[in-house]
Amino acid sequence: MKFYRLPLALSAAALLVGFARRPAPAVSYDVVINHVSVVDVLTGKVSADQTVAVAHGKIVQIGPVAQARYTARQTLDGRGRYLLPGLWDMHVHFRGGDSLAAANKKSLTLYLAHGITTVRDCGGDLTPRIFEWRREEAAGTLAGPRIFTSGPKIDGPGATWPGSLEVETPAQVSKALDSLQKLRVDYVKIYDSKISGEAYLSTIVQAEKRGMKTTGHMPYSVTLGEAVTDGLDATEHLYYVFKACSGKEDSLTALVRNSLKTSKPLGLFVMLPAVYDTYSPAAAQRIFRLMAAHHTAAVPTLAIGKTLAELVENDHAHDTLRAYIDPRIQATYTRRLASARQQSAAARAFTQKLEAKFMSLVPQLQVAGVTILAGSDSGPFNSFVYPGASLQDELVLLVQAGLTPTQALQAATINGARFMGVAGRTGTIAVGKDADLLLLTANPLSNIANVKKIAAVVSRGKVYQAPELAGLLRAIKNK
Ligand SMILES: [Zn+2]
Repeated sequence: MKFYRLPLALSAAALLVGFARRPAPAVSYDVVINHVSVVDVLTGKVSADQTVAVAHGKIVQIGPVAQARYTARQTLDGRGRYLLPGLWDMHVHFRGGDSLAAANKKSLTLYLAHGITTVRDCGGDLTPRIFEWRREEAAGTLAGPRIFTSGPKIDGPGATWPGSLEVETPAQVSKALDSLQKLRVDYVKIYDSKISGEAYLSTIVQAEKRGMKTTGHMPYSVTLGEAVTDGLDATEHLYYVFKACSGKEDSLTALVRNSLKTSKPLGLFVMLPAVYDTYSPAAAQRIFRLMAAHHTAAVPTLAIGKTLAELVENDHAHDTLRAYIDPRIQATYTRRLASARQQSAAARAFTQKLEAKFMSLVPQLQVAGVTILAGSDSGPFNSFVYPGASLQDELVLLVQAGLTPTQALQAATINGARFMGVAGRTGTIAVGKDADLLLLTANPLSNIANVKKIAAVVSRGKVYQAPELAGLLRAIKNK
């Protein structure tokens, strides 16, 4: 097979000046995608009619190269198709205890089938299993996205989520970080169900000294500015950025801090209406600039926000994806559903108003130079936020919020790779990078929802065409 035929005149000219060579020996590739439109997520430019070759799990050749001939074990017709880097979901969970390990493992198929080739696990109680899956994936015996993991979350005494490392004193923080380093986790995730402001900031400071990345929620008894200045690398969800957008942040923070000594401690959800009412564009700009200056990323998780805000009015009984969610995981969905049903109509209306406000922050963060990371928060307990599909929904919402499709794709590719410190190896389509790719039947830059139109997913150089992905899904379908 030929990449290109040299124009006859040019060949003749080459002969005359003595450049003629014998035909080069056939180069052998594992996979070649022909005549494909390659999407550059860095520039938002599309290069038409490209040939992309893959060998040993890496991209080894790109472009309309006048290659004399090559052989490929597998050739994909890229005509009318768009190639982009495999997507990253920067906020997922594997959890629910060992009895749910197999059910969690099945969600790896859902990620892959929806074009997600890398996920970042944001803490749970299945860390040893996650390392087991990673080994199986690396050995080629398990199909699924690459997984970065925080291991267990750090939280305070009596933490909500099982498996959390509970810290109160700086010495306990140090011990918790020791144990995470021993586990060789990829970063540190801090949760805020019970952690004190002091222990929270101590975790960030100590992790920073050890060169460990920190991300998380945040107790409302501290300010995001303090956390950012101390070295917080990413803030999950927009509740914490939003608090810093209040013109009365300091007095609201003091109110929370003082309440902790009383019998009625104030938590995040009680404070949100006051934060909402004191939103200040000037305060917002200040925190955005600070985050940009300190390279603190934001993970908006808009899709779960919308799903949970509309939990009561949207009937999920007939969602087709439920067929692929293990019944034991579906059973965990009832918790959030029950609490949503207990909410007053006024509280529900406020939540929806809040979600709209959160969406308005996204383009402002982007303009200010804050890195946006696309994350779905899918996993057990997060009702009807389906692995894979919810990241696609996240991209659609990021564009609805005001990002360009290119910026949304960056949030789900290169930004994740840079955040995890592996942009040299992955996150864009370039020679030498991992062959983690997504082949679409329509241009995602003209309509971001086209990320749902999957012709094939390439993971570690292995091609899964749409029928194969359907087969993998059938294998995990509930009986
Ligand atoms: Zn989460």
